[in-house]
Amino acid sequence: MQSYETVIGLEIHVQLATRSKAFCADNAAFGGAPNTHTSAISLAHPGTLPRLNEKAVEYAVRLGLALGCEINLNSSFDRKNYFYADLPKGYQITQDQQPICRGGQLIIHGNTATTIRIHHIHLEEDAGKSLHDQDPNFSFIDLNRAGVPLLEIVTEPDLRSADEAAACMETIRHLVRWLDISDGNMEEGSLRCDVNVSVRKKGDPAFGTRCEIKNINSMRFARRAIEFETSRQIEILENGGIIEQETRGFDPASGLTFSLREKEQAHDYRYFPEPDLPPVRISTEKLEQIRASMPPLPHALELEFQTVYQLPAHDTEQLVQDRQTAVYFQNLVSEGNPPAKLLANLVIHKLLPWSAESGRSLADCPVRPPQWREFVGLIDTGKISATAANQQLFPALLEQPGSSPGQLAENLQLLQTADAGLLEQLADEVLARHPDKVTAYRKGKKGLLGFFMGELMKASRGKADPKAATAVLVERLG
Ligand code: ADP
Ligand code: MG
Repeated sequence: MQSYETVIGLEIHVQLATRSKAFCADNAAFGGAPNTHTSAISLAHPGTLPRLNEKAVEYAVRLGLALGCEINLNSSFDRKNYFYADLPKGYQITQDQQPICRGGQLIIHGNTATTIRIHHIHLEEDAGKSLHDQDPNFSFIDLNRAGVPLLEIVTEPDLRSADEAAACMETIRHLVRWLDISDGNMEEGSLRCDVNVSVRKKGDPAFGTRCEIKNINSMRFARRAIEFETSRQIEILENGGIIEQETRGFDPASGLTFSLREKEQAHDYRYFPEPDLPPVRISTEKLEQIRASMPPLPHALELEFQTVYQLPAHDTEQLVQDRQTAVYFQNLVSEGNPPAKLLANLVIHKLLPWSAESGRSLADCPVRPPQWREFVGLIDTGKISATAANQQLFPALLEQPGSSPGQLAENLQLLQTADAGLLEQLADEVLARHPDKVTAYRKGKKGLLGFFMGELMKASRGKADPKAATAVLVERLG
């Protein structure tokens, strides 16, 4: 296995979160009782005509811009003919000759950044669903999904491992959610992929023959399918066989891929221009309008957080985990003085867990950003210890969201004291209790200072200002 390299190209399907379907007004939402999100058009009654959903086009352009694609201002639809029970028209409306986006790239960030080139992105409609597991004697058809808009992102064969394929899917899921064009939910089939896999001897310039594994709807399955397929192909080659180009399925129960059919050729589908839909023309005004409405992209924002606010990568990665968190953090830091690092800690270690537990969004938090800035300011200026702030003031504030953090800290007696008289008294008590350690310290065991500080902190119930207390101890011990 060591002498082989896996080559992978993905065809990623993203279901768009439009309200209505690609070519009619039927509800495009997931679920619903079977065959309720349908009409004469989804059911393909003769004589019905499709009409293009403008939002679907806009969403395609958003993704294209985010991936640096060339936006095709003149794209068009084609018919891809095939028979299947969940495809009542007998053809799928897709884009073959003139897809809406060409080129572009996806950068996946693992230990190093890897660029995956995109061949093109096209718009198409989803098929319905055949249900074979409801009754041993019957198959059922649910056409709720028939006609839901999809984007298909076709990558170049630039991926070299199951890890990269999974990272690619994760990056796409993150991006489509960020752009608000899809929920990216793999369990519900909003994001799925066909995985093309071939193997070749390392250093060999030519690609091997590939197999296409259809309809993978989980990251874990994608990995397992690639790993299995890689070893299957290597075994065939090692035994002197040749790989047949074919379409395969993946069985999650066994972890095996199995042959579905010989690879179909483009001419098998007898593609031809869809006569019922005019070509899609996007005006430059419309394009610029969409460009102007684009949010900053996650990676750009992450770099900004790193360079402008000097935050470490493991923080910024969490701050851009979704757009809401990033925007919230941006608002929190943009106006205030408190150090960004303390604000990042607050968001990552306190607010995100609060949001996950309460099921509420950060924007809905009853404690508002100015109060959080004051909260963090109390830690920054040493008025309250980070421990007291996180363990006591934080929950208290959420219970009394109208309060000022400073006032509340005072009421709860959490403010640290730099009162020299009190600190001297506490220091004397601590030193009197440990005469042997004082002697040891004076003989040179300077590390004991930490021990004395700990004791003094305890005696003050966490409220001693650490700087002032250290100074007092050093002076008393000296
Ligand atoms: P088709 O239209 O017949 O499906 P394409 O040439 O458009 O074929 O390729 C479809 C997908 O297969 C793309 O994602 C591409 O990157 C991938 N692919 C092409 N050749 C190989 C190969 N030798 N090994 C792995 N993947 C490949
Ligand atoms: Mg294909």
